[in-house]
Amino acid sequence: MAARAPTLDDAVERLPGAGPRIAELFTRLGIRSIRELLFHLPSRYQDRTRLSPLGSLRHGSEVVVEGTVQSTQVHFGRRRALLCRIADDSGVLTLRFFYFNRSQQLRLEAGRRVRCFGEVRRGPQSLEMVHPEVQVIDATPDAPDEVPLEAALTPIYPTTEGLHQARLRKLTGHALDVLAREEDAADPIDSLLARHFDFGQRLPTLAAALRYVHRPPADAPVDALWEGYHPAQRRLAVEELLAHQLTLRQLRQRAKQLSASALRAPRALRAGLLREFGFTLTGAQTRVVREIDVDLARPVPMLRLLQGDVGAGKTAVAAMIAASALAAGQQVVLMAPTELLAEQHGRTLARWFGPLSIEVLLVTGRLGAAARRQARALLGEAGPRLVVGTHAVFQDDVSYANLGLVIVDEQHRFGVNQRLALLEKGAHGARRPHQLIMTATPIPRTLAMTAYADLDVSVLDELPPSRQPVRTSVLPESRREDIVARIADACRAGRQAYWVCPLIEESENLDSQAATDTAAALAAALPQLEVGLVHGRMNDREKDLAMQRFVRGAVQLLVATTVIEVGVDVPNASLMVIENAERLGLSQLHQLRGRVGRGSAQSDCVLLYKSPLSETARHRLQVMRETNDGFVIAERDLELRGPGEVLGTRQTGIAEFKIADLTRDRALLPTVQQVADSLLAEAPVLAERLVQRWTVQRVEYAKV
Ligand code: ADP
Ligand code: MG
Repeated sequence: MAARAPTLDDAVERLPGAGPRIAELFTRLGIRSIRELLFHLPSRYQDRTRLSPLGSLRHGSEVVVEGTVQSTQVHFGRRRALLCRIADDSGVLTLRFFYFNRSQQLRLEAGRRVRCFGEVRRGPQSLEMVHPEVQVIDATPDAPDEVPLEAALTPIYPTTEGLHQARLRKLTGHALDVLAREEDAADPIDSLLARHFDFGQRLPTLAAALRYVHRPPADAPVDALWEGYHPAQRRLAVEELLAHQLTLRQLRQRAKQLSASALRAPRALRAGLLREFGFTLTGAQTRVVREIDVDLARPVPMLRLLQGDVGAGKTAVAAMIAASALAAGQQVVLMAPTELLAEQHGRTLARWFGPLSIEVLLVTGRLGAAARRQARALLGEAGPRLVVGTHAVFQDDVSYANLGLVIVDEQHRFGVNQRLALLEKGAHGARRPHQLIMTATPIPRTLAMTAYADLDVSVLDELPPSRQPVRTSVLPESRREDIVARIADACRAGRQAYWVCPLIEESENLDSQAATDTAAALAAALPQLEVGLVHGRMNDREKDLAMQRFVRGAVQLLVATTVIEVGVDVPNASLMVIENAERLGLSQLHQLRGRVGRGSAQSDCVLLYKSPLSETARHRLQVMRETNDGFVIAERDLELRGPGEVLGTRQTGIAEFKIADLTRDRALLPTVQQVADSLLAEAPVLAERLVQRWTVQRVEYAKV
């Protein structure tokens, strides 16, 4: 049977060169269909189309250079490194390698011509590239063009372990071919947007915009592209913002027409919980619980956002709220963004609810087949049950007999689409579960309206008593030894510590290696301590085991990449060291710092930086030193993040946009709101179509 050509709605597996393994990797990026792959856009571009003379290099640029090797030697400093000095007519450059072997060293012998690609940084003596890509080229100096350069800008895609850029480029190329076949020359959305938005030139069609951002030509205006101001990017951003607004409004409209069971505050069960907590609720926790109770008492589904800074005690609020549905004999789902967090919540809630005879069920992607079958069977029966899990809780084969309430923790990792799916899971006729979304990301008021047009908002604006604010110090890397001594002190006093090595390289391999090296060095410097390690190259089981040992106190010092960022709660940890802190955004630093200061001991956070600091990095670190208040930090973040800096929208955690950026695109929002209104009133079919192409499609997997 001749296979039909793939369409945009087919699974990525239909593309040439994409088997089940690749498809599996793509699902980790939330991509199943070819259309979704097309909307997976480059986060940045590399310019490998031209050579830069060594004399013209500037700190921070990413360039291709060529030069002749002057010398190569191993340097025994604080950290062993291979240093290779290259030169051309205009200047010199040092190549620095921390990981190298003998053959690499030999390859870079004096006199060879090399071509390198990498980021230029200021080094101790001259400008440097750390771990550049190096190609030894045989061309003679008078025929330098023999090895061709790239013809177009190189897109760099957000990716996941095991999925390489080269593969992503090839597959997005195939996806663009599919798009070319299906292109609709008279798409009414194209003309609609062209009517309302004016960027000084004709707005490209969706297809043209997608082609441009995936494959910008060699002469593309690099600066505009880099900052996200190219018309092709604006076109996509506008459409995405519009689709997002429409989705939120639909959600709101739909929710108003639906019903939910009205719930009463369950006195006995809550009294039991308060006993199990072992602490008294703060004023803010009590107030928020009351606000939510008012929503729950109405026969319409609640849609409420609970904002509370890290450590504010959202989990206890979640338990109090869950009690309302549980006491009414209903099921409650608490969804967490990672297995680690799901398990942590599972343990906490089982500790609280267990003595009250309420069963807590953990459903994660890692459940074995038998356990899964059992969980499924339990959920199919009516009865009060608290289900804690990752998005496995709303996979196709799980159905709920009596789902009354859905609580989503750390909202920014879940998109609107996932929330929709979960809502539909609990549908019984016109009945829907209540929904509570909890987030630690404080959202500046100016943006909250747009980001959460569909939600009512409650704020937990008080930390539990006896908390002392985390003391933050900012130190140059050269003070490492002092810090090692501080770790020894803290651990001697029975406390625990984190040492965070953030992602600094493109490759997860190198980062994991750096974390592994750091752990080894710290273990050698602190022989009296048990040092643990968590990084991205470990599988989930290994990560958990390492985390568990830290939670139990068997490990005193945990070295980790940023995998520990969200939600981890180990109150006994009172010291956090963050290396390369200058590389992280404010909200990420705040999240990381929130892992300490959770107990009653005075906690410290040390931000280590590598000189020289850029102006914004200096500001960021200063903000961190001055305040622990998440709202202040969020406001400052918004002020500081100039468009050039804003490459990942993910960092803000405000909403998961593929291309739009609420900071950069703020000025577009009023028009977007207006167009959304008129579309819903006058062209609902068109509105639906717009929403469809930006939301998750149900993929019919090709039958073999
Ligand atoms: P987050 O809001 O960041 O999710 P958690 O729910 O993890 O915060 O709570 C942080 C820590 O504070 C936990 O160890 C929790 O048991 C504790 N906690 C929560 N509420 C209170 C309270 N009212 N008094 C004392 N400790 C509390
Ligand atoms: Mg939490």
